[in-house]
Amino acid sequence: MQDLVLMKKMTEPIVKWYQENKRELPWRKEKNPYLIWVSEIMLQQTRIEAVLGYYERFLKSLPNVKDLAEVEEEKLLKLWEGLGYYNRARNLKKAAQIVQEKYAGNMPRNYEQLLELPGIGEYTAGAIASISYNEKVPAVDGNVLRVVSRVVLSKKDVLETKTKKEFTEKLKQIMPKQAGDFNEGLMELGERICLPNGEPICEKCPLQEICLAKKENLVLDIPVRNAKVKRKKEQKTVFLLEYENQIAVRKREKTGLLANLYEFPNVDKKCTKKELKDILKDWNLEAKEIQKVETHRHIFSHVEWDMVGFKVFVENINREFVWVEKQELLEKYPIPGAFSKFREKM
Ligand code: SF4
Repeated sequence: MQDLVLMKKMTEPIVKWYQENKRELPWRKEKNPYLIWVSEIMLQQTRIEAVLGYYERFLKSLPNVKDLAEVEEEKLLKLWEGLGYYNRARNLKKAAQIVQEKYAGNMPRNYEQLLELPGIGEYTAGAIASISYNEKVPAVDGNVLRVVSRVVLSKKDVLETKTKKEFTEKLKQIMPKQAGDFNEGLMELGERICLPNGEPICEKCPLQEICLAKKENLVLDIPVRNAKVKRKKEQKTVFLLEYENQIAVRKREKTGLLANLYEFPNVDKKCTKKELKDILKDWNLEAKEIQKVETHRHIFSHVEWDMVGFKVFVENINREFVWVEKQELLEKYPIPGAFSKFREKM
């Protein structure tokens, strides 16, 4: 009960703070649900600053649902290159096809219908419905969980689904009529003031009078995060094969991690010099020169790649790989972030 009272008290100061302090962002210029949808999907796991360039490029190329529904997968993945979590892009396209067929290209106008689309979970449906249509539904992400946990001094683990569910249910009960501004305000306050790492800037916070974590001097102990992700570790040797300004790439499998993207040929272990030579032989390639160029660690949500790259100048090409001009590699082939570090060495 006390939680609900405190949450209710948050609404007015948050809405006011947001209206006076919100950042100008391209998707905030109008309440177009397509723009909000694309931005929300890009912002999952990625910071606003990093998203801005991608967002503008994406919208320039695919300005509406129809264009997204009809885009070729390779072009879509190229537009998404560097953002990671490529299934987000594939789901955007799948959902756009459904919107095109079922809703004549107009985004569904409520939370429940949005939730039925691929790639749209409770958070995204809540964000689109509240920001575009002012529907009174919460949009609970990590920022929101942190701010609310601190205000009500919750010691529940925010990494547990049941904590998120509980907060979502409570927020549903106190949503103000400016639902979009409230949700965006909570998220932005979490990003800019009630910071995740280090001291929050409580003296600038509109909730400082009611926040229990501040009152009890416990802001750094909240939110509680206990669940730990265990990542599988894998090793890789990456071959940057070069023949007369052409580089070898290959398309990854149709399913699984980084499906359908392009990669530099690689093997699942750290190779000795002898092993390098044997592998080149298996690929029917004659090496002129081999140079070690780079080590790189790439972290996905459940697996970590420990990678080492070798540049190999070869005397011939083979049919196993696609051999592309360097410029083509930049413009046409979607290379995921795990390999883009190596591309810089080409
Ligand atoms: S007063 Fe401090 S800890 Fe409480 S919500 Fe505001 S910034 Fe976060």
